Amino acid sequence: MSLLSAAIQRINPSPTIAITNKAATLKAEGRDVIGLAAGEPDFDTPDFVKEAAIAAIRAGKTKYTAVDGTPELKAAIQAKFKRDNNLDYGLDQITVNAGGKHTIFNALLATLDAGDEVIIPAPYWVSYPDIVQLAGATPVILPCGIDQGFKLLPAQLDAAITPKTKWLIFNSPSNPTGAAYTRAELAALGEVLLRHPHVLVMSDDMYEHIVYDDFDFGTLAEVTPGLFDRTLTVNGASKAYAMTGWRIGFAGGPAWLIKAISKLQSQSTSNPCSISMAATVAALNGDQSFLKERNAAFQRRRDLVVRMLNDTPGLICPRPEGAFYVYPDCAGLIGKCTPSGATLATDEDVAGYFLESQGVAVVHGAAFGGSPAFRISYATADSVLEDACRRIQKAVAALS
Ligand code: PLP
Repeated sequence: MSLLSAAIQRINPSPTIAITNKAATLKAEGRDVIGLAAGEPDFDTPDFVKEAAIAAIRAGKTKYTAVDGTPELKAAIQAKFKRDNNLDYGLDQITVNAGGKHTIFNALLATLDAGDEVIIPAPYWVSYPDIVQLAGATPVILPCGIDQGFKLLPAQLDAAITPKTKWLIFNSPSNPTGAAYTRAELAALGEVLLRHPHVLVMSDDMYEHIVYDDFDFGTLAEVTPGLFDRTLTVNGASKAYAMTGWRIGFAGGPAWLIKAISKLQSQSTSNPCSISMAATVAALNGDQSFLKERNAAFQRRRDLVVRMLNDTPGLICPRPEGAFYVYPDCAGLIGKCTPSGATLATDEDVAGYFLESQGVAVVHGAAFGGSPAFRISYATADSVLEDACRRIQKAVAALS
C-alpha cells in the first residue's frame, strides 16, 4: 500500500519546470546550454515596484494581513479591472493569492467534485489538467490544432458541453501558443456559453498586456456581459510586471466563489506575502508606459524567431498575437534519423535531440497536449535567440 494519497498519484510534476531544471543542471556541469523553456520575462521587476516593496518593509508592513488581500491591493485591482477591462467588481468579488497558479488552484479545489468535467482547449497551460485531476474531476481536452490557429471553435465547445461540465478554462493570449482571440471570436464562444447556464468560465488573462501589432485584447466577461455572474477573470503580477518570484495572482468573480476561495486559503496559505502585495499596488497604480517599451522588444524577438524557424525545413511556425512563446509544428521532423542513428518518433525525441546535440532546451508539445510541436519562450536576448535558432537549424540539417 502506498503512503501517498490517490490524489497526489493522479498528477505529474510540471514538465516545464522539470526541463528548466534539467537545462540549469547541464549548464552547471559546464555544458553550453541555451534555456528557452522557462515561462518568465527576462526583464527585471521595474525599479518603482522594488522601491515600494522596500518602503513597505521599512514601514513595518511585515505582519499577517486579511486572508484574501490587503484593502489597498484589492482597491488597486478593482481599479485595474475597470480601467483595462471595463469590468465592475465589488471588493467582495476580488481575491488575491500567492501567484496566478494559486488563484486557479483555489478556484478549482473550491468547486470540483469527482464526476465533474472541465473543458480545456489544447494546447493548454500544463497545470490545468493536473489541478483538475488533483481535485478528482475529469479534464475534457479539446484539440485545437495549427489548422484552426490553435483556437477553440464555437461548435467544438458546444459539442463538448454535457450536464456534468463545471468549467471551461480559457486562456488568451495563450501559453504555449501565443494565440489570442479577437473580440468577435470571444463573442461567438460567449454565445455558446450563454446557452449553457450551468457552466462556469475561467478566463486566464495572465498575458493580457503582452500583445503585438496593436492587438485589441478583450476578456469574456467584458465581451459577453451575460457571463459576468459566472466568470472568474484571472490575472496577476507575474508576466506583465516581470514579478514571477513575488507570487501575486488575483481574480474577479462572483462573491460566492470569492468567499469559498478565501475559506480554502484561510486553511492553507493564509494571506499572500504582505510585501509583494505592497509592490503590486505600486505596479498596478503606477505609470504603465514601460509595458509598451517591453512589448516592442518582445515583438522584435518574436519576429526574429518566427522568421528563423520558418527558414528551417520541416518546421512551420505561426506568428502569434501575444505572450512570449512560439509553438512551431515539427511534423516534418518526425521519422527522421539523427547522426547517431536514433529515429525521432515523437516531439519529445525532437526536444531531447535539440538539447543533446546543440544544447538548446525547448519544451515538447506533448507536455501541452498538442503534438508534434515544441514551445520556445523568446523572453531572452536577441543575440541568444539568434544563436539558439541557428543551432536548431544546424540540428535539423544534420538529420537524414
Ligand atoms: N496561467 C498561465 C497561462 C501561465 O502561463 C502562468 C504561468 O506560467 C500562470 C497562469 C501562473 O502564473 P504565476 O506565476 O503567477 O503563478
